[in-house]
Amino acid sequence: MFYNTAMKDALSRLQSLSSQMSFEPDAECNAGSAPRRAPYSSPVECTPGIRDTDIYVHPAVLPNGQRIKLFKTLLTSVCERDCYYCPFRAGRDFRRATFQPEEFARLFAHLYERGIAEGIFISSGMAGGGIRTQDRLIETIEILRFKLGFRGYVHLKIMPGAERAQVERAMQIADRVSVNLEAPNSGRLAQLAPHKQFTEELLAPLKWVDEIRRTQSPPLMFGSSTAGQRGGRWPSSVTQFVTGGAGESDLELLTTTAYLYRHLKLKRAYFSPFNPIPDTPLENQPPTPAIRERRLYQASFLLRDYGFDLEEMPFEADGCLPAQIDPKQAWAQINLSGRPLEVNRAERRELLRVPGIGPKSAEAILRARRQGKLRDPSALRGLGIVVARAAPFLLFDGKRAAGQPDLF
Ligand code: SF4
Repeated sequence: MFYNTAMKDALSRLQSLSSQMSFEPDAECNAGSAPRRAPYSSPVECTPGIRDTDIYVHPAVLPNGQRIKLFKTLLTSVCERDCYYCPFRAGRDFRRATFQPEEFARLFAHLYERGIAEGIFISSGMAGGGIRTQDRLIETIEILRFKLGFRGYVHLKIMPGAERAQVERAMQIADRVSVNLEAPNSGRLAQLAPHKQFTEELLAPLKWVDEIRRTQSPPLMFGSSTAGQRGGRWPSSVTQFVTGGAGESDLELLTTTAYLYRHLKLKRAYFSPFNPIPDTPLENQPPTPAIRERRLYQASFLLRDYGFDLEEMPFEADGCLPAQIDPKQAWAQINLSGRPLEVNRAERRELLRVPGIGPKSAEAILRARRQGKLRDPSALRGLGIVVARAAPFLLFDGKRAAGQPDLF
């Protein structure tokens, strides 16, 4: 009876905390596409007999292609800061919940043992400063890893103001770490989160992550119970922007994104569209349209995976990407319509600039060329190429595809 009552209370708090995580991007969900929000989640019954404590897990795809059930949660929804966009900001009236590290770790182990959750993404409101909050997050994962033997996936949030040693420890026990920049620069951050310091509190930890990866050997194991968990690799790092919350342009967002990809080896930037939350200072600001989020992801992938430079992005006069056309298509219409690429001679980096051709399909073209010439668009079918998008920008053995206008 006691077990049921205590467990019911704990699961109820857990349900409350995890359901409030829908504002966080599903960082591991659907790699390569825009993150999905709460409707993607599915309720599961935690414990037989405890019927009112459904929690939410998120179907997630890890970078290695493995599919897992990811549990996203906060350690506490209490927060002493007052970020303008955030549902957890200090003083906002809603029911808050808190876990102690040991209590939380045991509860998650309960979910894991029952096959309800296979990995965890854990963050926290700020309580007692960034250093204390980070300590509690680290302690939670240490208990999970070393006391309870959890070998699964961990995405651990780095809190604003965390110390370098804490960042290093987080990197030793997690598979992914993240620092949410929220805005592309300090001026814009001041309009969203007046008490966060862009350079000292947010950018510095991301720089430490890169520096640690470059200068130190990764741990070969987390501990005796999890030997070889990550095979001696440091975790990946990601960030999130609250897109459209501070009136920033796409140029500002992508300038910072390009820096993070190029210089700090960030795995991915997430563009979480601003959504007004009642009873916050930005409650009357309009939500950011989904198409803006989509265009930012497309442009960021061009920067990260396709060899594009920021200067090549088709920004409009206001510094934003055109909403009606994807940025690669816009670039190709300007640069390739009049001089299509010969598909039998183009280098990989050139092929990557053709709409409908991605890194894998560019490799497939190079392999197919070793077998013989590609003489018409039908030769591209089966190579993972969107032929209708690619053909207008290609020559096949010197000729345009049938039906394509000759612009020479
Ligand atoms: S510090 Fe984090 S949880 Fe607290 S108000 Fe700001 S964004 Fe929200």
